[in-house]
Amino acid sequence: MTLRFGEPGPEFTPHYPPERARGRGRAWYRGDCHLHTVHSDGRRLPEEVAAGARAASLDFIVSTDHNTSSSHAVWGPLAGPDLLIVTGEEVTTRNGHWLALGLEPGRFVDWRYRSRDEEYPRFVRQVHRSGGLVVPAHPYCPYVACQWKFGYEQADAVEVWNGPWTYDDESAVDTWDSGLAVALRGGNGNSSRSWLPAMGNSDAHSDPQVIGLPHNVVLAEDLTRDAVLDGLRAGRSWLAESATVELDLTATGNGRQAGIGEELSVPADAPVDVRLTVSGVPGGTVRLITDEGQMHQESLPAGGSGTAVWRTTASLAAYVRAEVRHPRADGTPGRGNSMGGELPWGPMAALTNPIVLRTEDR
Ligand SMILES: [Zn+2]
Ligand SMILES: [Zn+2]
Repeated sequence: MTLRFGEPGPEFTPHYPPERARGRGRAWYRGDCHLHTVHSDGRRLPEEVAAGARAASLDFIVSTDHNTSSSHAVWGPLAGPDLLIVTGEEVTTRNGHWLALGLEPGRFVDWRYRSRDEEYPRFVRQVHRSGGLVVPAHPYCPYVACQWKFGYEQADAVEVWNGPWTYDDESAVDTWDSGLAVALRGGNGNSSRSWLPAMGNSDAHSDPQVIGLPHNVVLAEDLTRDAVLDGLRAGRSWLAESATVELDLTATGNGRQAGIGEELSVPADAPVDVRLTVSGVPGGTVRLITDEGQMHQESLPAGGSGTAVWRTTASLAAYVRAEVRHPRADGTPGRGNSMGGELPWGPMAALTNPIVLRTEDR
């Protein structure tokens, strides 16, 4: 094979995306933070990804091609008042993949190391310096070199739900959930929050993988890069399989109310009313989970909308979080506290970050 230089083409001009879009002020914004294009191993052009994000009713996306920043410079004209595009990278090391969300445009993060090389902390610092987030991706993916082996101490969130719901996502949610109880025991002391937020992203590469299945619904001050990253970092977010699913979770006690990712401080034995409102999950199963496990289960009607109310106290529960599951393959809701040869629940439709309950008298 012989390669020769041809006539030079027009000079490439980078067009990085703006850091803000037309938001609605403090509001819930939907975004998929793990997407590939032809700039790595995806088959979609950036314009197809942007169109897919709009079709999924997303407000923002993060571009995360594997081990390259080359797509950053083409997103400019594809962003718009209705779609914020944040630059990032998926860093595919030999001991797991992590998302660098919110990189300076054109910035590359190296991927060529294993856990035992002890190079990872240096790249974590690099991403934190640019105000970005470090998020281990699909930590139990069974493919070679995909299982996460760097621990979670330096991470800002963890991707517990990657693409259509599969058994490895169950493992990721279980690990994340037990980490919540550990973090809330004494706090990990390395940041303003003491627990690791959960994220969900599509990791869509090509058709028929669906952009936005799943995505994050984040409470942000506005539709800007920094505000969205702040909301994700604080865990003020829940995970949805599509924009058809709506959800609201609050905890109310002693005259105060807290929402997803927030804390409620109450006297240890004061009643705390947990209220979950859902729509868009026909025949779904609502699960309310604390550090002791599933404490409440309820079925949604065929219409898919409903409200579950359950009472606890801060002395009984360190946190409360919600899951909404589809029916199982045989159409039954499943029983969350049962054992058996099959998973007791159907696929995830929505999952929230926790509301933390603190006892005032501690
Ligand atoms: Zn990956
Ligand atoms: Zn990926």
